[in-house]
Amino acid sequence: MNPILTSICLGLTAAAANVFGGTIIVQRHWERRYLRYFVALGAGFMLATALVEMIPESLELRGRPAALLVLLGYLIIHFFEHTVTPHFHFGEETHPDEFKHSRTSYSVLFGLIIHTFFDGIAIASGFLVSNWLGWLIFLAVFLHKVPEGFTVSSVMLASGLSRGTAWASSVVLGGSTVAGVLTMALFRHHVGAGLPLSAGVTIYVAASDLVPEVNKEPAMKMALLVFVGAAVFFLLDHFFHAL
Ligand SMILES: [Zn+2]
Ligand SMILES: [Zn+2]
Repeated sequence: MNPILTSICLGLTAAAANVFGGTIIVQRHWERRYLRYFVALGAGFMLATALVEMIPESLELRGRPAALLVLLGYLIIHFFEHTVTPHFHFGEETHPDEFKHSRTSYSVLFGLIIHTFFDGIAIASGFLVSNWLGWLIFLAVFLHKVPEGFTVSSVMLASGLSRGTAWASSVVLGGSTVAGVLTMALFRHHVGAGLPLSAGVTIYVAASDLVPEVNKEPAMKMALLVFVGAAVFFLLDHFFHAL
């Protein structure tokens, strides 16, 4: 299948996972504890994908300057998620005092729009390089998409906005993911920039958004799941990479 078409289909799937995450928080009675496992698995899988596949591929595409773009991708997300945003962490928002001003919640939404845009850039960049890389990146993105939609909607609710607005914010993140895919499709000749930038974003999301959530859990089981996430990457590599 054409790499652009595949990216669009999988971008829409990832977007649907964002919306599903938003739906979980709006439907108060829905079970949500299992989302923690996706955060831990996703962290390990994303780190392995970014460090073992995305960065080496980027260096092959662009040479040493790719490393600078990886750093830039990392810093872009640090800026929008944790510098201009007064309060943000992954997972359910349980600090309503931090959201006395609704602009705080909109700053979180904006930070996540930038992040999810690069989720889309990552998926399309992957498929522009190879089917194998595309599927790996899609899986890395997909694993944290439900918790991501969940996070944004819970932030909106904590700041006193309506459940409709909370749900709509998860739709916006889905839309931004698809916009990232379409942007990369349009600028497909710049995959040598898209891949390293989104590798930096992936490392940031894994190490600075997801791992801190894992470390909040006192049980060792959650911390161990990060290793399982990385192990899944190597299992896939072993069994499917040659195909
Ligand atoms: Zn909080
Ligand atoms: Zn994301």
